[in-house]
Amino acid sequence: MLLKDRVAIITGGAGINGLGFATARQMAAQGARVAILDLERADPADAAARLGDGHLGLVADVTDKPSCEAAAAAVLRAFGRIDALVNNAGITQAVGTLEIGGADYDRVLDVSLRGTLYMSQAVLPAMRRQQAGAIVCISSVSAQRGGGIFGGPHYSAAKAGVLGLARAMAREFGAEGIRINCVTPGLIETDITQGKLGPERKREISATIPLARLGRADDVAGACVFLASDLAAYCTGITLDVNGGMLIH
Ligand code: NAD
Repeated sequence: MLLKDRVAIITGGAGINGLGFATARQMAAQGARVAILDLERADPADAAARLGDGHLGLVADVTDKPSCEAAAAAVLRAFGRIDALVNNAGITQAVGTLEIGGADYDRVLDVSLRGTLYMSQAVLPAMRRQQAGAIVCISSVSAQRGGGIFGGPHYSAAKAGVLGLARAMAREFGAEGIRINCVTPGLIETDITQGKLGPERKREISATIPLARLGRADDVAGACVFLASDLAAYCTGITLDVNGGMLIH
């Protein structure tokens, strides 16, 4: 098992069709004790219970620093250590540049970018004490190609910011045994995409992807397990594309 007795935190992990929950499931299957963090309305306790015994579901808002700190403290109380963090919480909004209002900008950047900073700040002291840890940040192909299918420019900016933040943290904490990497998913079928794509549009999009299909949540989860595990012991500051080849250039 790749994560035997490791403790992993996954933000935004309660949606059972989402990338976070798929990652939680795979990490639990690899022997990790998992803490799922999410907003109250997403019911993280129920999601954690679906993983089986010995996991934790915590209400936490990643845009709120005290909430992130309280969640990290609760994980330490329950499990005694934090080996991995997956910064997965994110929201999107499909609007053009001229439509982005200040509140839209704040909402979208706060969850992906501020949330990645606050949650990383909350776990780094424990990882530093352990002189070991792995943080995986979920960015997006939208950061690399200037827009995906659903996200607006502020979403691309938030996810590009995540790439820069992760690389800078990777430089800062590498000497202390803490690795920080990003995953850039392409178009993955989750609740974010649900109901927004008809079969015809899906066929059109699939025809532009070398692997000829949309992604599945488990495709991204596998990449997160790899980066959190010792298989990735010499990887830090990397961006792992999980997009079926849509960005080959
Ligand atoms: P999702 O909507 O299923 O998951 C997002 C989760 O984040 C939800 O459970 C939501 O409750 C939670 N969340 C929102 N605001 C939060 C906050 N303030 N604090 C804590 N949790 C919060 O969507 P998903 O498709 O599984 O997306 C997961 C991540 O992957 C997101 O960061 C998304 O931007 C990114 N992503 C998704 C795709 C895709 O095609 N689905 C592609 C690239 C990147």
